[in-house]
Amino acid sequence: MKIIIALGGNALIKKGEKETYSNLLKNIKKTCSSIIPFIKNNKVVITHGSGPQIGNLLLQNEIARKKVPEMPLDVLNAESEGLIGYLLQEQLSNEIHKRKMHKNVVTLLTEVLVSKNDPAFKNPTKFIGPFYTKKQAIKLKNKFIIKKDSNRGYRRVVASPKPIKIIEGSLIKELVNSGHIVIAAGGGGIPVASKNKRLTGVKCVIDKDLASSCLAKEIKADLLLILTDVDKVYLNYGKKNQKGLSRLNLRDAKKYLKEGHFAAGSMKPKIEASIDFVEHGGKKVIISGINSVEKALKGNNRTIIKKT
Ligand code: ADP
Ligand code: MG
Repeated sequence: MKIIIALGGNALIKKGEKETYSNLLKNIKKTCSSIIPFIKNNKVVITHGSGPQIGNLLLQNEIARKKVPEMPLDVLNAESEGLIGYLLQEQLSNEIHKRKMHKNVVTLLTEVLVSKNDPAFKNPTKFIGPFYTKKQAIKLKNKFIIKKDSNRGYRRVVASPKPIKIIEGSLIKELVNSGHIVIAAGGGGIPVASKNKRLTGVKCVIDKDLASSCLAKEIKADLLLILTDVDKVYLNYGKKNQKGLSRLNLRDAKKYLKEGHFAAGSMKPKIEASIDFVEHGGKKVIISGINSVEKALKGNNRTIIKKT
């Protein structure tokens, strides 16, 4: 079976944990040992989020601005793909060798095509990087788009356009079909736009779940496995009457999406990605927790999304 495993933020850093190298390494080691059972007999592509990591890179640029020239957001996205990709590649290779398996792991810097006409550019919604005071925000107004992030302060905001195509999609397909494990589209991939057949980086952030379904379609994956910090998808999530869904079909997924059961920026893009994949030839999506995922999938602790 050909699987895309989309790793959520908690595969890298747990809520409330400081983002130190040792914490990152500890979590990535654990993540690699939980996903290893899927790697043995399947063809696997791994994608991952990078919200906190790209936020930190942005902050480093910001603080060091007077001494080291700043880099634009597309370059920082590439940096975070390298940072996380390297650690995943190293730790996954260690796990593979420990089990005497024969697989190669490769991290691929992945560019993802977006449209400059995407309506998301007219209404940027994705908060990134450090918080500013009102005074700082006014100063930075000419440089970035700054909005108020609820009551927490002012923050830079960028667009999150829809991924159209994975530029390196056919290369990823070739690699995975040959049996190599590919780490790709980290942090949603590096957003690029095309003009006169030339690509240039765009200052925005693509949702990692939507990029994963885009890639899943291109490589003709059988399964999209979204691993996050909840065990399954819920109706009325967080309320007294919340109800876990062990199965979900396309029709109900669309209905519940319309009814507002899935929060924007967290569960909503996962459901949108699932609908997109299943509607375009994908057989199955599974959303589950990353902890003891093998056991969860054997039991009922997951949501399976299928056409019918
Ligand atoms: P990831 O880094 O894995 O993408 P997110 O925080 O973006 O994680 O998405 C997972 C979160 O979605 C859960 O922690 C949960 O708080 C939230 N969520 C919102 N709506 C729902 C829902 N209907 N069912 C389950 N989780 C939900
Ligand atoms: Mg998310």
